[in-house]
Amino acid sequence: MGEARKVAGDASAENSDWWSVEAAVPPNSCPQCQLPILSINAVCQTCGQHLGAINVLLASNPREQDELRRRVTEAVSAARSDGSFGALSDLAVAVRDQSSAVVNVTPDFALTFLSHQKSLYASYARQLVSSRRAKAAIDDDRARVAVESMLFGSSAGEVVYGALSLDGRGLRTYGPVSLVLDDASIRTRASVLETNSYAFTEGIGPTSELPLGRRAPWGMRHLVAASKLASRLTSDTKSNAFPALLLSPADHRREDEFIEVHIAGSFDSRAVKEVWIPAADSVTLTSLYRQLLRELTAKIGIRLGEY
Ligand SMILES: [Zn+2]
Repeated sequence: MGEARKVAGDASAENSDWWSVEAAVPPNSCPQCQLPILSINAVCQTCGQHLGAINVLLASNPREQDELRRRVTEAVSAARSDGSFGALSDLAVAVRDQSSAVVNVTPDFALTFLSHQKSLYASYARQLVSSRRAKAAIDDDRARVAVESMLFGSSAGEVVYGALSLDGRGLRTYGPVSLVLDDASIRTRASVLETNSYAFTEGIGPTSELPLGRRAPWGMRHLVAASKLASRLTSDTKSNAFPALLLSPADHRREDEFIEVHIAGSFDSRAVKEVWIPAADSVTLTSLYRQLLRELTAKIGIRLGEY
């Protein structure tokens, strides 16, 4: 039998090796046609073989990984000297084992999306192409397309965005209803970025390199959380403070503080494992919407949490 599972908060967490996880390095040659892969791409340009999700391939790039590992090593060593290593390990293990991708939507959208098995949650670009939504105000549209292109180039339209959450709460600036995604539906195609992509790309020109070591494939998301949040932990930080450290929603999108989740492709309502809503009624979440959401989630068998 293997070693008993380490419990966060337990003294043995001191010895856990949460930081030793490695990303699969993208192959240099195509597993199908064996030819060298000339640029980071989701499919082989010669034989069409699927090579992986573009955001995951970018996050798994060895240069990104080396810098992320350097930052984590630095955070671990600083935490060991200031006494916060236990808290850092507990945070990393909590994010590794319990965090989910959350996408916030309006009650109207949630009701339509959850009640139609054939509806898809798709990227902004795909919704525009399929005429399922109107273009945003021109300044918002320009900023959005520019920021997404900074991260993913011409593949930007493939990616949908969420936030990393430990308690089902998401970014209310996108709507009061949090759709919590099932790990199995995203784990091979999701990656994380240390912060809001708008903040991340602020002030960086299109020909400049983005800062390295701030993104990771899904299975390494706790390393991004650890390197980002280490300096905010002390020896007294308890695990009940972790959800708000990881995600701190604001009233304006630019002020939201969170780790952004990128998911390649779209998903349907079966990818949603839980729905969370605020316990208090508001302009956007009236008691009628609450009642409709309660009835619908009960009917389709999805847990509805209220916080
Ligand atoms: Zn090939």
